[in-house]
Order: sequence, then structure tokens, then C-alpha cells
Amino acid sequence: MTLLCTGAAGYIGSHTAMAFLDQTDSRLIIIDDLRTGFRQNIAILQARYPDRVEFVEMDFGNRTLLEALFKRSEITGVLHFGASLIVGESVQKPLAYYHNNVANAIALFEICVRFGVEYFIFSSTAAVYGEPDSRLIPVCESAPLAPINPYGSSKMMVELILQDLAKISSMRYVALRYFNVAGASMGNTTSLLAQDQALGQRSKNATHLIKVALECATGKRAGMSIFGDDYPTPDGTCIRDYIHIDDLAAAHLSALRFLQAGGDSAVFNVGYNRGYSVKEVIECVKRVSGVDFATQIAPRRAGDPAELIASNALLKQQTHWQPRYDDLAVIVRSAYEFEKALKA
Ligand code: UDP
Repeated sequence: MTLLCTGAAGYIGSHTAMAFLDQTDSRLIIIDDLRTGFRQNIAILQARYPDRVEFVEMDFGNRTLLEALFKRSEITGVLHFGASLIVGESVQKPLAYYHNNVANAIALFEICVRFGVEYFIFSSTAAVYGEPDSRLIPVCESAPLAPINPYGSSKMMVELILQDLAKISSMRYVALRYFNVAGASMGNTTSLLAQDQALGQRSKNATHLIKVALECATGKRAGMSIFGDDYPTPDGTCIRDYIHIDDLAAAHLSALRFLQAGGDSAVFNVGYNRGYSVKEVIECVKRVSGVDFATQIAPRRAGDPAELIASNALLKQQTHWQPRYDDLAVIVRSAYEFEKALKA
């Protein structure tokens, strides 16, 4: 079958595309405007699967180009990763976020419904929960949706639109609410790393904790800040549920199989049901890399909830998903090997 993947030049999209290529015989049409994605990721997918990956450089909200694509290919399912996703930037540029994440998604939905797409997998986020009450941790899918920034709001809006669309069309969907994803492909080998053919996180101006800490460990940054050590947690720093990118990628495959087996539209958290503090993560990065680097305590970052841990019971119960890399050191090691090979 042919799947359309939006935004698969990015981190999560490229790893998920590879999982589908490795484990199914589907053909992928990838669309990405390369604003934040990397051509290199597409090149890696195409080098490994030359006959099954087509790439079109375009905006996923371009109705005319979408229509042309759907006319010439029988697209059964869509994996929608394309989005703007920096929380702080979303606060500064709300309209840009609503435009890209919501208005462009509506354009995509119009075409999907018109051409009879059966399955839609949507990249959602734990940011839809905002700052959940500590009594609700680990957070279940039924927890109140209360995003605290335009990024989280835009994702919540798309979930609501999907919910309404599923009622009036034959399209069924799964929205996956990602927690903190990190790590690099477990399929990376020494030779792929050396040839620059490995998949991992290539962010331009990294803000995510593990990536930032690894940039310190590999000498690309002199030091880093810990944003707040006065939270109501055991060591005072925020706790997050860090999930390996390959387990997150596998959740998409499980979600599609769930729909193909007749499952109803659903929303699933994707995480490990346990959390680590910022200090624990930094200690792990130092231990795995064997490199000590400078950290300083800085003020809290706006909008950071003290604790965010996923309940993954529903995903495990409803699909065949099972985590394979639920170990912070494994996550960090895979990312470290990639970061060392990645040019500064
Ligand atoms: N964090 C930090 N220093 C950094 C980057 C992140 O202390 O340089 C903290 C951040 O405040 C949060 C946690 O690490 O408590 C995870 O942040 P990240 O940006 O990785 O993911 P988020 O949870 O915001 O999606």
C-alpha cells in the first residue's frame, strides 16, 4: 500500500519512515518543505530503499499539489508529522503556529476525505495536557486537555477536528501523544555512522535536554543550564518520561495495524510510564560519555510542568506495542554515538 508521510525529513518522521520501510512492504510518498527538516534524512531513506521512497518538496497545506499527488497515486493512509514544534516560538508567533499546524492540516484533511483515505496517524503531544494535576500522574488519555501554549493548543485543535471528521467520513485515525522522545536509530552501525548515513536527531538550534547535554559532552557547547531546581520533585528538577525514538516509531506501526484490524479511532499516549529528573538525565549523559561538563542552575523556563509521565496502559492494551529500549542509558548511548559522528 502507499502511504503519504508529511514531515518525514524531520527526526521522528524519518525514523518512523525507516520502521515502515524495514517492517512492511509499503511505498512511501514523503512531502516536506525542508524548512526544519533535513534533505540528508530523505537521502538516507532513499539510499536504503530506492524503489519505495518518493520525495516531493512541498508544503503539506498546498491543496493544488496535494490534489495532483492523490490523483496519480492511490494513497490509503497518511502519517502526519509535519508541524511547527518549538514551544517558546509558538508563544512568540501564535498565528504562524495555528496557520501551519491547524489551517494547513485542514487543507490536508479536505483532500484526504475527498480521496477516501482510510487511515490517518497524527503526531500529537503530551503538551495537550498542559500542567496536569500531580494526582493525575502518570497521565491517562482521559485527563483534561488544558494546553498552556499555542503549540499544545494547535495540536489539541487538530485532534478535535479529527474526532469530528471521523464521524462523517470513512477515515479512521489514531492520535499519538508523544512524551519526551530522544535517542538515535538502533539500526545505526559503526559504518553507517562513519559514512554519515545514520539516522538521529539533527536539530539546528537544539533546545531539548538530552540533545543539549550531548552537545556539551561532545564539545559543541561549553556548558548548559538546568532550568529550575525548586520544583516539588525529589531533587527539585523537572521529571519527564523519555522514550527511545525507535519505540516511538514502532508505536506508529502498531497504530496503523490496530486500525487495519478494524480498531476504532483512538488516542494513545506514547511513553514508558516512568520518569527521570533533569539532574538524573545529565548524570546519565556524563556517565555514558565519560565527559564532565559545566552546568548551572538557571531560572525556571516558562510553561514547564514539574512532572510529566505517560500512562501507556491503553496503547499496550489496544495494540501490540511493547517497548524494547526502556532504559535511559540505552537511549543516551544511541544518541551519543550519533552526536559524536555528527559534524558540529
Ligand atoms: N531543560 C533544562 N536545560 C536545557 C534543556 C531542557 O533544564 O538546556 C529541562 C526543561 O526545563 C524541562 C526538561 O529539561 O524541564 C525537558 O525539556 P525538553 O525541552 O527536553 O522537553 P519538553 O519537556 O519541554 O518537551
